[in-house]
Amino acid sequence: MNKVTGLEKVTDLTLYTGTFGKKGCTCNCIGCTQNGYITKRKQNQGNLEQIKIIMDKLPNLKNAYILGNPDVSVDTKFCNQAAKEFIKNGINVMFSTSGYKALETAKTLFKDLDPAYISYISYSVDTLDKEKMRYLKGSNKLNMQDIEDAIAYCQELNIPVKIQPTLWEINQDDYKEIIDNFYNKFNIRWYTFHAGSFEALRNKNVGLNHVKPSKWKEIVSNIQKIAEEKKLKILLPRIFLNKEEMIECKNNIHTYCANGGSGLQIWLEKDNIRCTYCPLLAEVHPEFTFLIQEKMANFISQNGVCAIQKEALDNDLIYNSNKKEGRIFSSSKGELYNVCRFYSIREDFKS
Ligand code: SF4
Ligand code: SF4
Repeated sequence: MNKVTGLEKVTDLTLYTGTFGKKGCTCNCIGCTQNGYITKRKQNQGNLEQIKIIMDKLPNLKNAYILGNPDVSVDTKFCNQAAKEFIKNGINVMFSTSGYKALETAKTLFKDLDPAYISYISYSVDTLDKEKMRYLKGSNKLNMQDIEDAIAYCQELNIPVKIQPTLWEINQDDYKEIIDNFYNKFNIRWYTFHAGSFEALRNKNVGLNHVKPSKWKEIVSNIQKIAEEKKLKILLPRIFLNKEEMIECKNNIHTYCANGGSGLQIWLEKDNIRCTYCPLLAEVHPEFTFLIQEKMANFISQNGVCAIQKEALDNDLIYNSNKKEGRIFSSSKGELYNVCRFYSIREDFKS
């Protein structure tokens, strides 16, 4: 594919305003998703000139998801300035945060922004259990009361809030309590889930496990039931599919690694603006990242098989998969197939 044509299709951008990775973050998450490729880059803050270049290269950009450096609490003022630039050009912005210094971060982040252009802010709450939170985030500086005060502040400004839990085996059942808490206290009806993955943790001794395939299917089905009952909007990676679901998947899947697409991820490096269509792939094969001014991007021709499914799962799970390939798993309900992490359930019962 010609990348120039590809960039014209991009409507949604995920922006890391710099390249500090875990080292420069306000948290120290044990399963940090920015702990591989990104930490090998020269550290850089990013600047507003780069934001202008991005808008120039992406003429059809509509939404910019601003992740900070990588959490918005790291370089909140710059995220606020970047958001101003996007909004000036009619582009909507959204943010994501671990909740570190939540209220202070929200006040700085939203300063002088028109709330009508802020599509949402996302809080990555993985558990309500203090000890588990400390373990997962590698910090005892996160305070649930502070996060809730920030959410109340967002609601005063009419800024939509979504909750974004990442589920590992250790917190795999915590989603019920999380939903109940935020639904009951704040009437939050928007939840997007991630399955904790290992692509950034390869060759590191990390005390975490991926959720097992049959358990993930149970979680998917339970969250769908809760979403229907409580009228929620959800986004939920499917990850493991049975044979019937695989047929449906093959007919409907669009893989970013092979086809590009409307969503692009960008890091602001010192002398470059580096892009990828699949952040998981970028962690394992940086050669599939590309610079925004380059003529062509590399795409994988992968015959429907995810190029990194083995690297995104934990070692035990791979060891117990068929042929130890991390692709097919035996379960009491038959074989389950590992698929692209972006093949998700999107349901909106709230509207
Ligand atoms: S908040 Fe994000 S970038 Fe920071 S340590 Fe946690 S996972 Fe990594
Ligand atoms: S998760 Fe795998 S299949 Fe999906 S876009 Fe990335 S590399 Fe491709």
